[in-house]
Amino acid sequence: MGDFLAASRRSTIPIGGMQCSFCSTTLTKGVARLQGINEVHVNLGHGEMFVDYIPELVDQESIEKTVKSLGYTVRDRDKLKKFDQAREELRLSKRIFIRSLFFSLGSLILLVYFKELNPTGIFLDGTLYLSIALALLNVFYIGHTIVSMAYGSLRRGIFNQHVLMEFASIGGLIGGFLGIYYGYPPIPFFAIASFIASYHLLGAYLSTVTRTQSDEALLGLMALQPDISHLIMDGGINDIETNKLEIGNIVEVRPGERIPVDGIVRSGTSSVDQSLVTGESIPVDIKPNMEVISGSMNLNGTLRIEVTQAADQSFISRVVKNVQEARAIKPGIIQLLDKILKYFVPLVLGAASLAFAVWIVVPYITTGDIVFEAAIYAAVSALILGYPCALGMSTPLAMERAYIKATKKGILFRSPDSLYVIKTIDTLLLDKTGTVTEGKLAVGELHHAKGVESEWLLNVIEAMESHSNHPIAKSLVAFAEEQGAEGLELDDFREISGTGLKGKLSGRTIEIGNIETTEGKIFDNSLENEYQRARKMGNTMVFISDESRVLAFVELNDRIRSSIKDLVKWCKANKIQVSMLTGDSRETAKMIAGAAGITSFEASLKPEDKMAFVRRSQSEGRKVAFIGDGINDAPSITQSDLGIAVGTGTDITKDSSDVIFMKPDPSNFIQAREIGKSGYAKTAQNLSIAFGVNIIGLALSVAGLITPVYAMIAMISSASIVLLNSLGSAYIVDRLHRNPA
Ligand code: ADP
Ligand code: MG
Repeated sequence: MGDFLAASRRSTIPIGGMQCSFCSTTLTKGVARLQGINEVHVNLGHGEMFVDYIPELVDQESIEKTVKSLGYTVRDRDKLKKFDQAREELRLSKRIFIRSLFFSLGSLILLVYFKELNPTGIFLDGTLYLSIALALLNVFYIGHTIVSMAYGSLRRGIFNQHVLMEFASIGGLIGGFLGIYYGYPPIPFFAIASFIASYHLLGAYLSTVTRTQSDEALLGLMALQPDISHLIMDGGINDIETNKLEIGNIVEVRPGERIPVDGIVRSGTSSVDQSLVTGESIPVDIKPNMEVISGSMNLNGTLRIEVTQAADQSFISRVVKNVQEARAIKPGIIQLLDKILKYFVPLVLGAASLAFAVWIVVPYITTGDIVFEAAIYAAVSALILGYPCALGMSTPLAMERAYIKATKKGILFRSPDSLYVIKTIDTLLLDKTGTVTEGKLAVGELHHAKGVESEWLLNVIEAMESHSNHPIAKSLVAFAEEQGAEGLELDDFREISGTGLKGKLSGRTIEIGNIETTEGKIFDNSLENEYQRARKMGNTMVFISDESRVLAFVELNDRIRSSIKDLVKWCKANKIQVSMLTGDSRETAKMIAGAAGITSFEASLKPEDKMAFVRRSQSEGRKVAFIGDGINDAPSITQSDLGIAVGTGTDITKDSSDVIFMKPDPSNFIQAREIGKSGYAKTAQNLSIAFGVNIIGLALSVAGLITPVYAMIAMISSASIVLLNSLGSAYIVDRLHRNPA
């Protein structure tokens, strides 16, 4: 087995022409049947096929040949070209459908005028031949790609939507020829065969619209990153392709241009609108040494930016990848749908055969005649009503729209189930520093013990805190530097998350952190008094101590986020329990929670304790969302049913959260939940419409209560409703947006 694995080769093939999960199943089955394939996995979301094969037995060429013989295309590996090809496919499928529509229109005219007549005279024979010709051309010439797709699948024993539809249209043709032979009106049957060809091409077109729609939305995100950047070189400025930029390059971004890369401003000042990137609607004032994010809009000044990430690693690229990944992995509900679809085609074929049998047998028993006319009508109706593409596209479409809608608001759903899980949340746990509060702490007084020099203290604070990412550390470093702190050499450094820092300075062990770090150490009297007084104020306190003695403490004051009260109110109204968890002291926690309107809180918790709290809530049967800044909350974020990280900056890949709020504002939870809920509702509506029409229609057709034409009308309506329900008004607005007059 080991040898086998070593000899295998892996390859990813971009696939075009896939419409719904039926197509991915067809491809998987088709390729898996080749000799020498270890593993094959088709990803509808990415439009990719992953194969693991043994090169001695099969080569990539024959795999690609199989893909093509099943009616799909192998696309260019270049991402943008891939999108172009997808658009081309869309244009093509529209053109084919319209052509087919003309043939159907011809068939319709013949049907309306000559429906009841049997061919007797020369004139009527001509009509008959014309209707046969129209039907044959529509089915086999205009629809030849579908015929070959159906043939390619059937040859491999795969039953999919193409097979169903070819059965239906060929069934119609056979009905017509039998009519000529047995003397019942044949023209309606030829017309129906022709209609079915158009109907299937319409289905293919609508599915392609669905797929390209979500590609387009992704493309809209990608378009936020300009293709061309102004690179500063020795000789002047050179315009080059953004993806050729290297780390360390300096680019110029002019007013009105989007920032092409993640980087640091080296010169210039400007206002930058990050709304499409982070959802933050107020432009940010950008000065030298500040970070800028690719995709944001430079409003009024010229900036020179040093590139810190290659274009394909930039924030925008990673967001695009994230959306693709999220939509490619199948959440539970889609897996269920796939399972249903697996039995769907056999079910439809069974229903069609049953309809045929009933309408042969029943008239035979009652009248002694065999009547093909009714039997073929019933069977063809059943096949039409079993067309599963509305069903296949119902779920992915609504999901993808929801993902992208959220992304545009700075809410990144990262795990496949998160859109669904958010609806079920009944407990919201909030971290304090940086989540409930702004995390921009104002540093108050530095109280120190007798004989401790404040200059030296500031140097120590600067030396230690500059190694930490904690909001407290950032505030303290800024404070110390403002007071003129100078760098000191550290011999050793460790961050103990949830309590503070430990380091060694010229042989002395120094700790900076909460009250726990002072345990067993001497507080001198005056410092103790100061501490007892300050405690009652509810400010955050950070202590500086050596091995035996508390040297000083700093008071820090944090403001609660303005939106937090609304969030708490909204949660109450929606029966979601809110608690705040913090590593800070009880007094501080009480003050902050009180100001935010949060009635339940826990203080002095280490990261593990917060996680244990999450677990306990879960064991009480609660569905828990935890919102934290991701700095030392990773255990709780991972443990909770929905882990949310706020404002992690441009690096969206590093933590383990299910959702990221780009804007560091926990009240995004409200929007996130609304989007999740409406995405779910749409999915459920789509599924029930599509499934309902399929199942009721199948029953009606077996009972002989519906004719093929009405069957088609019903199915076209169901697919259109699904499509419109998912795309909704946003689609129309988008269109207008993209094509301004
Ligand atoms: P919260 O739960 O409010 O987000 P943390 O768990 O991050 O707070 O930290 C708890 C406490 O540990 C802080 O209130 C502070 O006293 C101390 N602490 C944590 N990190 C640091 C640091 N880098 N410097 C000083 N003190 C710190
Ligand atoms: Mg924290």
